[in-house]
Amino acid sequence: MKLAARVSLVTPSLTLEITAKAKALKAKGIDICSFTAGEPDFDTPEHIKAAAKKALDEGKTKYGPAAGEPKLREAIANKLRTENGLDYQAANIIVTNGGKHSLFNLMLALLDPGDEVIIPAPYWLSYPEMVKLAGGHPVIVQTDASSGYKITPKQLRQAVTPRSRLLVFNSPSNPTGVVYSPAEIQALAEVVVEKDLLVVSDEIYEKILYGKAQHVSIGSLGPEIFARTIISHGFAKGYSMTGWRIGYLAGAKELIQAVTTIQGHSTSNVCTFAQYGAIAALEGSQDCVESMRQAFAQRRDAMLERLNAIGGLTCARPDGAFYVFIDISKTGLTSLEFCDRLLETQQVAAIPGIAFGADDHIRLSYATDMESINKGMERLDRFVRSLF
Ligand SMILES: *Cc1c(COP(=O)(O)O)cnc(C)c1O
Repeated sequence: MKLAARVSLVTPSLTLEITAKAKALKAKGIDICSFTAGEPDFDTPEHIKAAAKKALDEGKTKYGPAAGEPKLREAIANKLRTENGLDYQAANIIVTNGGKHSLFNLMLALLDPGDEVIIPAPYWLSYPEMVKLAGGHPVIVQTDASSGYKITPKQLRQAVTPRSRLLVFNSPSNPTGVVYSPAEIQALAEVVVEKDLLVVSDEIYEKILYGKAQHVSIGSLGPEIFARTIISHGFAKGYSMTGWRIGYLAGAKELIQAVTTIQGHSTSNVCTFAQYGAIAALEGSQDCVESMRQAFAQRRDAMLERLNAIGGLTCARPDGAFYVFIDISKTGLTSLEFCDRLLETQQVAAIPGIAFGADDHIRLSYATDMESINKGMERLDRFVRSLF
């Protein structure tokens, strides 16, 4: 069958593929330690599920407004005002089918053919693909351990051309776990304003922070950057609601209206009763968020301790999200070779860094139980020893 040319522009999601492979092996009864998870391993908190069940029982089963339930948009605007210092009203918010859908909608609403989007690497693997699907051109800016995997203001300035429209900014970051400091965010914001770009701030890991790391939303740093900021966010990571498919986009009213029109002709509203769960997530107690964060913190420490004892691998200490990004360059293997062999010989599943634009790295997720972490790190140690 002849398919549209745009299909050949994109590559299937490597993380979903490897996760599926590991799951299939597990289903065959093979003892797999999987560190591929891009989602919390906890169930959704009870009060959130209860609110969705109640909505279902009350008949919240019909079409709703394409931009989302008014009460949820209100609650989101309220959260962004009070927690993040972003002066949004309900009209600045659209509820989407997850943070991924927010970003995809944004690219569709914003980009003309050839428009450039600046994406710091290592990046979340869907960013460049979405830009391409929308007809835009991803401009990848490589970062590495020497700058703490952070794009510098100088690099950003150098990447700008007359076609540049948008910077994609993700802190805390997937895959690196990096959290930019307020001063670093301020310095990038100055370049965005100076070059008259837009920035989309993907804040999906906002609540998953460790140690002294703090989250600052780039849009809160002054009126000029606020006017150029779009927030992409969602419930998946902080509230362990990945399967619910609820995210949101916040920005200028005319942008949100444009995205609403696109959504009105594509997905329409997000599952109505699921949105009531999201309202409960925002308005209920935040203790669940903190207890999951604490569990991640313990696992992070355990994993780092084991990893640091493995010669031949190096990794930076992540300050957020639930991933460690490991430099495998000393092994001389590509990230795909490393992950294939690790899975075959030791039954440990990891994501090759090439998926994130860093072929000399692998990503391990610690959104898994402590027993798997201990067992998996032992196997990883054995594997790396076998290489030297
Ligand atoms: C998980 C993730 C998202 C969005 O996930 P959804 O399930 O679509 O809400 C967005 N950005 C990053 C970096 C992520 O890791």
